Parts: sequence; C-alpha cells; structure tokens
Amino acid sequence: MAKSSVQYKFLLAIALGFILGILIGWVVSATAPADLQKTLSMWFKAFGDIFVRLIRIAIPPLIFFTIAAATASIADARKLGRILAYMLVLYIVTTIASAVWGVIGASVVMPGAGLNLTTQQPPPTPPSGIDILLSFFQTDFSSLLVVGGAMTMIIFAIILGLAVAFLGEEGRKVANILSLGSRTMIGFVRIIMYYAPIAVFMYAAWLMIVYGPQMLGAYAKFLGTQYALTLFHFFVIYSIIVSAGGLSPVKYFKAQFYPFVLAFTTRSSAVSLPANMEAARRMGIPEEVYGVTLPIGATVNMDGTALYQVMSAIFVAQLFNIPLMPYHYALLVFAALIGSVATAAIPGGGTIMLAYVLAVMGLPLEGVGIMLVIDPIADAIRTAINLSGDNACTVLVTKLMGLKLRS
Ligand code: ASP
Repeated sequence: MAKSSVQYKFLLAIALGFILGILIGWVVSATAPADLQKTLSMWFKAFGDIFVRLIRIAIPPLIFFTIAAATASIADARKLGRILAYMLVLYIVTTIASAVWGVIGASVVMPGAGLNLTTQQPPPTPPSGIDILLSFFQTDFSSLLVVGGAMTMIIFAIILGLAVAFLGEEGRKVANILSLGSRTMIGFVRIIMYYAPIAVFMYAAWLMIVYGPQMLGAYAKFLGTQYALTLFHFFVIYSIIVSAGGLSPVKYFKAQFYPFVLAFTTRSSAVSLPANMEAARRMGIPEEVYGVTLPIGATVNMDGTALYQVMSAIFVAQLFNIPLMPYHYALLVFAALIGSVATAAIPGGGTIMLAYVLAVMGLPLEGVGIMLVIDPIADAIRTAINLSGDNACTVLVTKLMGLKLRS
C-alpha cells in the first residue's frame, strides 16, 4: 500500500512538473523580452540536462549487473533448457514484431516532422556497416564505460555471466554478488528518479520557450500512434499467440486484466510480477513453466519498450531533420531488441536505455530529455504490454513443451 501511494505521488509530481513547466514556459515566451527568454531557456535546459547526465553515468554499471546476473541465473537453470529455448525464441520474435510496428507507425504518421529542432552536438554522420559491426566490439576496456560502448558492455556481461555459470556450485557466490549489484543499481536509478519531476519541469519550460506549442502537437501525435500500435500488438498478436497455445483469447484477456492495470499504474514490470504469476495460475499454466518464464520475462521481454524506443528514435531523427536510410531501420530494430532486453523493469527504465539506442544510431542524446517530458504517459502503456507479453508467450511455451493447461 505504502509503495503504491509513493508511486502515485511520484506520478502526480511528474504531471505537476509537466503542467507547471508548460505554463511557466508559455508565460515566459508570451511576456518576456527576447534576451531574457534566451537566458531563461538556457538555464531551464541546463537543469534538465543534469538529470540526463546522471542517467548516463548510471548506464554502464546498470547494463553490466542486470545482464551478467540474468545470464548467470539463466545458465543455472540448464536442466530447463527446452523451456528456456522456446521462451527465448518467442520473446525475441514478439519483440522484433512490435519493433517493426514502431518503425511503420513512426514513418507513416511522422510525429516529429516539420519542427526543425537544432542540436548543439556535431551532426552525427550515419555509421557504415563495418563501423557498426566493429562498434559492437570496442578496442579496450575503458571504452565499455561510455554510453556508446554499451553493446560491448552487453557482450562482456553475457560472457562473464556464462563464465560464472560454468563455475557451477563455486560460481554461486559470484552470481549472488551480481544479482545484489543489479538490485543496487536499480536502487541507484530510483534515487536519481527523485530529480525527474524537476527535470520534467525544466525541459517542459525550455521546450515551450524555444519551440512553442507546436511541440505539444508533436507529442500528442507521438502518443496517439504509440498507444494505437501498442494496443494492436496486445489485442491482435497476443490473441494469435494464446490461440496457438490452445487458450481462448477471452480467457487470457480476462485473467490478464489485473496485472495489466497494475503495470499501467505502477509502471514497473518487476512490481507487477506477482500479479502476473497469479494470472498465469488462473489461466491454468503449470508452475514449472511460468516460474521460469515470468521472472526472466519481466527483466528481458519488453515488447512495449521496444516499440516505444524505435518510435522515439525515429521521432528524434524527424525532430532534428536527420535522414534515416533503410539499413538504419534494420539496425534500429536490432538496437531496440537489445535495448529492451537491457532495460530495467522499473518506471522510466525504457527512456534511460533510449540513450543507448540513440547512441548506436548516432542520433542526438538530447532526445532522452525530449522524451522524458511525456515519459509517464508513454511508460504506462508500454509496461502493461511488457508484462502481458510474458504471459502470452508462456501459454504457447506450455503447449510446445507438450504440457496441458489446467482447466
Ligand atoms: N517501465 C517499464 C517496465 O517496467 C520499462 C520501461 O520503462 O520501458 O516494464
């Protein structure tokens, strides 16, 4: 109870920061002389940037610990290899599908077109195929510690997690340390999150002064498209998956209702995991299946987040007028797959990892601040779908394992 009232207070603070920021920004842009507007907008942006910088320093250790801990524990469950194999294939396929909806939606609706924002960063030159391949494998350890080295950090963490698992019993202690480290980093991000309402206020005011109400239209278009596509994935794709698993979609949606609402309001897959397990029980899924697939799914399977990250990256490219080539879209789907796996199951996790997706794409990292302004609204729906996807795939894994749903 106490936890959820904290969540609501946080949500309220973010909403308040957003509304106040828009109002103050609007008043400043309507009344203040031009040079005062410029000075104020620079200060607003600087205080918003503090938040983005704090997030950026948290990214390398956050990726390292979450992925290494997950790999070490996955390999711990080697006897359940078949469940894991089916689960991973389904998780990957559904996440790629939802990322593709994101590409289509953002390219057709073009929510960020025509605003012509400018970035203070040098214009990123789109990387070549060889550049992209080699960027996954940085040359030395220190490069793993910058946001652009995130992919190498992921590879490093996976190999390290496997090495720990191969140690068997002896490796347990290290696996525990990794899992503690992962929880510590989630705590670290939670602390930074206290600053989020202020950052939202600052960025909202800055955007209003510099880009005016035009920006609000872009946000509305973005959110409208994101909600429509995410709900399409939920209702259509998950219906197909659970039907293939031998469960009536009506039964699935009914059982999924409570975890959906809980995830929508708490915006955390981790917090909503117990409710998702209860829903799995109600669908008749055996515990030996959901006990494995749901906890791992809560951390790694995030269809809603992948869709959102893809849409956000294209939105940012449109805002800054940066053209994207067809192969960039393929890279983006891949980056969002990795980005969503690496996203922590906490409020705002997907926007933190958006920094990674933007960095891989060579897009301006200011995009994180821009997306932060509407994050609570975008996060609610993506979390609800992140969680629901785990259960849909679990129904099909049960069928593929030759097990029966209990009626
Ligand atoms: N809040 C999401 C979750 O817990 C992650 C995200 O921010 O995309 O699933």
